[in-house]
Amino acid sequence: MRIARFSAEDGMSFGVVEENTIAAVAAHPFGELTFTGQRFPLADVRLLAPILPSKVIAIGKNYAEHAREMGGEAPAEPVIFSKPSTAVIGPGEAIAYPEKLSERVDFEGELAVVIGRMCREVPAARAADVILGYTCANDVTARDLQKKDGQWTRAKGFDTFCPLGPWIETDADPADLAISTTVNGEVRQDARTSQLSHDIPTLVEYVSQVMTLLPGDVILTGTPAGVGPLEIGDEVTVTVDGVGSLTNRVVARD
Ligand code: MG
Repeated sequence: MRIARFSAEDGMSFGVVEENTIAAVAAHPFGELTFTGQRFPLADVRLLAPILPSKVIAIGKNYAEHAREMGGEAPAEPVIFSKPSTAVIGPGEAIAYPEKLSERVDFEGELAVVIGRMCREVPAARAADVILGYTCANDVTARDLQKKDGQWTRAKGFDTFCPLGPWIETDADPADLAISTTVNGEVRQDARTSQLSHDIPTLVEYVSQVMTLLPGDVILTGTPAGVGPLEIGDEVTVTVDGVGSLTNRVVARD
């Protein structure tokens, strides 16, 4: 099932995407869904970020080849950081390049996990019980500021630096999915989620030992090798097979 959030003529709603239509869901997408009976052609709605998380937790250097391209080894334990919820944008929304503050803004295509219920201290073996589904993410990063600051809050935290979408796929098996990123149609990242150093159950256990996860919280699982810069005017697409494709353009920040 593909759960999206969308705006149509009479406001915003969650909905379930089926073929070329979207069936509106009352209230929230957690637990049993209640359908309103309204259905729209997909072409007549605008898809929004599929969820507005209370927090976005991200994993650093979780593909060995990416850790190497950054000049290190894959860490033995997951390295976690956070992106503010205000960084989240949806499919088709613009990534705003903060030219006054950064000269190097990179894409990072990632598989994102969406949490479906409040939980803490979840054993890896029970991680599937707390996961609603999966979406595509772009962990946009001001690489120069990441290096300069020595920690990542500013580099990872600009408004628009967390595109998510196009929807939450609830039926995907994330163990071995193809993940790729293109910039202006050219393939820049091409990997499989089976190459994750720390798999998704391990990440859910690790993060939930630290903090309570709320419905809608998002875990970005790390980016494969091939990261590189974006320029104003670029179009960047993150695709996870069996999940979907997320496309955003880069514009100058006002
Ligand atoms: Mg990342």
